[in-house]
Amino acid sequence: MVNPQSYFSLLKELPDNVTLVAVSKTKSVNDIKELYDLGHRDFGENYVQELLEKQEQLPADIRWHFIGHLQSNKARFIAPFIHLIHGIDSLKLLLEVDKQAKKNKRTIDVLLQVHIAMEETKFGFEASELKEVFHSGKGKLEHVVIKGLMGMASFTGNPVQVRKEFAFMKKIYDEYQKEQEQFSILSMGMSADYHLGISEGSNMVRIGSLIFGDRK
Ligand SMILES: *Cc1c(COP(=O)(O)O)cnc(C)c1O
Repeated sequence: MVNPQSYFSLLKELPDNVTLVAVSKTKSVNDIKELYDLGHRDFGENYVQELLEKQEQLPADIRWHFIGHLQSNKARFIAPFIHLIHGIDSLKLLLEVDKQAKKNKRTIDVLLQVHIAMEETKFGFEASELKEVFHSGKGKLEHVVIKGLMGMASFTGNPVQVRKEFAFMKKIYDEYQKEQEQFSILSMGMSADYHLGISEGSNMVRIGSLIFGDRK
């Protein structure tokens, strides 16, 4: 269930340059429709099958963000309509999205996911690998635009650690922005740490539980 009060106070709190992606994974089509009716258009999903089922039933002007781990062989399912893919974590996936975008006569915006957390399990490129990604993609990517970076901080209650990770990410973002003119999106911050994300320079936050309530 959507909590309109939380939603509106969150909106009021976010600086004008920060886009709110409402993370609706595991939430029902009705929940999404409720938020849609309050005027929201950016929604984030983690699972391809779930996204496809919802996308079919919901208004066409929703901007769908894919924020989960995308397998290369599933890119073709979301290519016809996806607005932004946040979690590009391999060159193979990047090339596949490019191919599928071409097939659909579209240009697809993507973010490269950078591994900034202490946990080994989180997906993403190491910061040191990014240069090679841009280099290898050069001239080959005609149907994707790398709009920026996405990162998830460590699952920790320690704000000092989280802030450090976000600051690191911003530093990398700024470095690449000098040569990547199309860079405009830095996606970092979730329900628990969006304040830190924004104060360290995020301009896109991905928030689920704060808007929709806890997931089961
Ligand atoms: C689930 C998820 C979120 C939202 O998490 P909340 O804690 O509910 O705000 C944000 N980003 C990613 C990548 C997620 O998987």
